[in-house]
Amino acid sequence: MNDSPPPPLPPGSTIGIIGGGQLGRMAALAAARLGYRVHVFTPEPDSPTAQVAAAATVAAYTDAAALGRFAAAVDVVTFEFENVPADSVRLLAAAKPVRPSWRVLEVAQDRLHDKRFFNDGGIATPPWCEVRSLADLQVAVAAIGRPAVLKTTRLGYDGKGQVKILADTDLAEAWRSMGAAADGSAPVGVLEGFVDFAGEVSVIVARGVDGVWAAFDPAWNVHTSHILDTTTIPAPLSPHLAADAVAIAVRCAETLGLVGLLAVEMFVTRDGRILANEMAPRPHNSGHWTIDACLTDQFEQFIRAVCALPLGSTGRHSDAVMKNLIGEDANSWKAILADPSAKLHLYGKAEAHAGRKMGHVTRLTPRKDGGWGHGSAT
Ligand code: AMP
Repeated sequence: MNDSPPPPLPPGSTIGIIGGGQLGRMAALAAARLGYRVHVFTPEPDSPTAQVAAAATVAAYTDAAALGRFAAAVDVVTFEFENVPADSVRLLAAAKPVRPSWRVLEVAQDRLHDKRFFNDGGIATPPWCEVRSLADLQVAVAAIGRPAVLKTTRLGYDGKGQVKILADTDLAEAWRSMGAAADGSAPVGVLEGFVDFAGEVSVIVARGVDGVWAAFDPAWNVHTSHILDTTTIPAPLSPHLAADAVAIAVRCAETLGLVGLLAVEMFVTRDGRILANEMAPRPHNSGHWTIDACLTDQFEQFIRAVCALPLGSTGRHSDAVMKNLIGEDANSWKAILADPSAKLHLYGKAEAHAGRKMGHVTRLTPRKDGGWGHGSAT
């Protein structure tokens, strides 16, 4: 058996990115800095990624002919979002290396798979129950208690497909609000105990084809209306809890045999425990601060892992607060540009509708601990 890892993909090669949003855009910019070309596959015309990519295929994620042409035009395939149909990934994988693999995407596509994966690996989560009917919901609420959160298992993000079950919430109403699945069938939900958390953290870890990993410092995240508002570095965690958070993310990456980047979002309870919430096998909004505060940012690290290059240092030279610019927030670009501590990032989106991530701003300050971190790595 030949165990040697695949060779690095040389600069000048073409990286295929599935998905055309801001994560793809920032990944394409990082790829360009390393001399790669990016070909994006997205159903969206004039997508944030296509604006900065060498080539774009605009087609549905299920368009087999377009996927075939795309696979022929690229040297490796990756994803900036994970909700890609299995058949499409299979088709791509038959033609070119796909990193991360389908197994990784599959776990991350479904909240139930996520939670089973965490618990099977001995990683604590909020209490949860699978819910496929109103009767299931009634049993689940009786078991878990109120308050709780009912979530759809697939295609939910930024709080979409979530209902809080309070003392007076009518369960029939809550179940109806889940709607139907995309194919018209009954929805599948998961009921989670509501965590009265002290805070939320995330850890982003990269793992290369050779199994070497490198993690960024844990980030402290504040959500408003379920959407990430700010990320603060360093997170106000004890060294012990920070190490635990990193260890959880690394364990997930290793168990998955990940090649690429993994973001794991976690709750910190008031009694000092970490509970895993969800994970995403791609660059993550809570890692945007790394662009301005680290030697190697999450997007470059992602490109390095996908191209089988050695990983870079996750060393952090500054403290940082990243703020998302949602909807009309982005109109304050002039004031942000006038702030000498601020780095502005706009995503090239034309319409600023409510809840839409238009950009972000990272404010840097010298590290209070005077240190020069090296993140965590093997
Ligand atoms: P999610 O889509 O699961 O990442 O949820 C988005 C946000 O909603 C989380 O980052 C939390 O702020 C909040 N949230 C989700 N699930 C829970 C929970 N079980 N308990 C408390 N807050 C939650």
